Formats: sequence, structure tokens, C-alpha cells
Amino acid sequence: MEAELKDMWNDLESMKQSLTDPSLRGPVDKLQLHLERLTNLSKSVPVRRSKVKDMSAEVVDSNPYSRLMALQRMGIVENYERIREFSVAIVGIGGVGSVAAEMLTRCGIGRLLLYDYDKVELANMNRLFFRPDQVGMTKTDAAVQTLEDINPDVVLESYTLNITTVQGFETFMSSLRNKSFSPTKEGSGVDLVLSCVDNYEARMAVNQACNELKQTWMESGVSEDAVSGHIQLLIPGETACFACAPPLVVASGIDERTLKREGVCAASLPTTMGVVAGLLVQNTLKFLLKFGHVSPYLGYNSLKDYFPTMEMRPNPQCSNVACLERQKEFIIAKPARDAAAKAKMEAEALTVEEFPLHADNEWNISVVDEVEIETVGATSSDALPEGLVRELPNADESQHPPPVEPAAPSLDDLEDLRRQLEALNS
Ligand SMILES: [Zn+2]
Repeated sequence: MEAELKDMWNDLESMKQSLTDPSLRGPVDKLQLHLERLTNLSKSVPVRRSKVKDMSAEVVDSNPYSRLMALQRMGIVENYERIREFSVAIVGIGGVGSVAAEMLTRCGIGRLLLYDYDKVELANMNRLFFRPDQVGMTKTDAAVQTLEDINPDVVLESYTLNITTVQGFETFMSSLRNKSFSPTKEGSGVDLVLSCVDNYEARMAVNQACNELKQTWMESGVSEDAVSGHIQLLIPGETACFACAPPLVVASGIDERTLKREGVCAASLPTTMGVVAGLLVQNTLKFLLKFGHVSPYLGYNSLKDYFPTMEMRPNPQCSNVACLERQKEFIIAKPARDAAAKAKMEAEALTVEEFPLHADNEWNISVVDEVEIETVGATSSDALPEGLVRELPNADESQHPPPVEPAAPSLDDLEDLRRQLEALNS
């Protein structure tokens, strides 16, 4: 639009120059002034891209997904476009949650459900994502405003609520159960819940909801001194739940409940929060699109650049009743799981047999087995022209059994050696 207005202005300019009577130039000047105002206005209106029906791998500057679809061509992801089928719920749209939401939006996730009760404040501007002109808006509404501009293909749902209240928790649960986006999906209506909250109660609420719904989720957290963080994968019944062993208690021996004190301002850095959000979304992409290794727990200590990893089994004495139920179900389902894993391994072995590793042999490389080598050696020695001798020995000669190694020293020899050493030392 800006370019068209400029062309129009240039046309008017040439028209003005061609006028022989200077008194007629006044109306043209007026039109040019109007055009300048319109140009300024057009600059302040955000330009939105239109929705894209199918993700294309076409390499053109106008394709918002070309770099993501290239992951398929590079052999990292089998089917990137599947990302459009997935729903991810993000609880807590703060320093980690907002950045995670932006990353997933830019990756073209199908649907994002955003939960937060807080408003944007100037004190949040040391972190990424929110802008000063959004101060006073709810974090969920401000996030939707930014995210729908970045990628209109993502279905965004904003829930301004506190999940630790009775009403908030009920709405949270029913929104997770809602299957309108993918009616045929098994279990809940979302594929993953990301917890990006900053307090113990909210984490326990997410833990309760996910244990009840058998919902896989990922925990994330940044320490109050802003220099370390972690992410954790929680599969009800299979891994430790948040009530089995809260990560912060495990990591530092401090109960998080004692960390949150009234009036005490926690430190925060956009760097640590950005790193943790990046680790969280990377794990999310690997989990959803099935590539690489999905980390069960990944810590980040920025002072030492240390990334500890570990796995945590569920606690059979966990205080959460739903967790104990999931643990029982997981044990009961073990034979079926083992059978499925075995069948998968057998199917994979069959596939390898049917499709050799290098089906198209561009360089005509062939593998010769040992029997053939011997035959080749024998015939070539016979075929040597008269009068020529081999400089190197025949292959046969090097295949004679190696001479027998001298036997290892016997006990008698060792005894003898000991006596000699004692004689030397005396
Ligand atoms: Zn538990």
C-alpha cells in the first residue's frame, strides 16, 4: 500500500511539472498533502497476513512455513504439518509462558489455550514478549493480540482466571476436556499442558488436573534469584508427579512454599527465562512431532553452565490419590505395553530386511564376502602372465595361523620371580 501511494504521489508530481500555468498547481499540491497524510496513516496500521490453508514446503520468501517444512527435507521430522493437529495449554503467561506461547505460535501449532489472571505491568518489561503499550491489559488478552498478528493460523483461546480458586479450577478442567478442536482424539482435548506458573499452589492445581485427566504435562520453573531453572516431563502413573517429588525440593533442599514471601521481590532475567522457555518448547516439539530424545528432567544452572538430567519414578507413597490410581493402571498395563513394544521392534526389523539401507547405489559400491576374496586371490595368482613374479606375498600366505604365543608364566615361575626380588631387596 505504501508503495502504491508513493507511485501516486510521483504521478501527481510529474503532472504538476507539466502544467504550464503555475496557478493551476495549487489543487495538485493539496492532493499531494492528502497523500502524505495517508502514507503516514498506513504506516501505523499493522499489516496482517492472511491465513494459510495448507503448510507448503515451497521455498519462496512469502511462505511463512518454508523454514519449518525444511525440517522434513533435512530428515529431522517425518511429518511437520502434523503440528497443526495439536492443542497445547499454557498455564501462566509470564516470563516463560509468554515466550513459549510465541515460539509455538511461530512454529504453527494448531491451537493454544492460555491461562493467567494477572495484568501486564511496567515491572514485566525486563522480560521478553509484552510491550509497554499493553500495560493494564490482562496478560491473556495482550498475548492473544500479539500472537494473532504473528500467526493468524493458530486457534487461540484466552482464559483470564486463577486455577487455584474453585471456580477457576472447574473452568480449567472443562476447557481441557473440550474436544471441539479434535473430536476423534483420545483422552482430553489437549495434547500437552505446559505449566509456566511461579508458585507452589498453582503447580499443585495443574498436577491435580493432569493426574485426574491422565494428561501428560511439562513443568517449568526459574529460581527466585533468576540464575537457574528446569523443565520436567510428567506422565501420570509413569513418572513422578509434582506431589511425588517437587523439583525444587529435590534440586536445592528448599521448600518452595517458604520461598514466596509477601513483599519480597523475586529477581528475573530475560536470558534465563528465554533459555528455559526454549528448552521447554524444544522438548514439546520433540514430544509432539516424535523426533530426538524427550528429556524427562533438564536443569539449567547459568552460573556454571551446567545442565543436569535425571529420571524420576513415581513415589508409591505419593499423597495424591489420583497419582496412586494412575500408578496402579500403569503396572496393570505392563504386559500389553511390552507386547506392543515387541511387535513394533519386529515390524521395524522386517522393514529393514525389505528395504536395504542403500537402495539406490549411486557409486556402484558392492560388498564382497570373504569366500569371494579367496577365490579372487586364487584365480589372479594363476592368471599372472609368464615371467612376472609377485612382489607382495599371496593373500594365502598371510592367512596361515599365527605362531603359538609363549605360555603365560606358571605359578612356579612367579614364585621364582618373587624369590629373586626378595634377594635383590635383602
Ligand atoms: Zn505422585
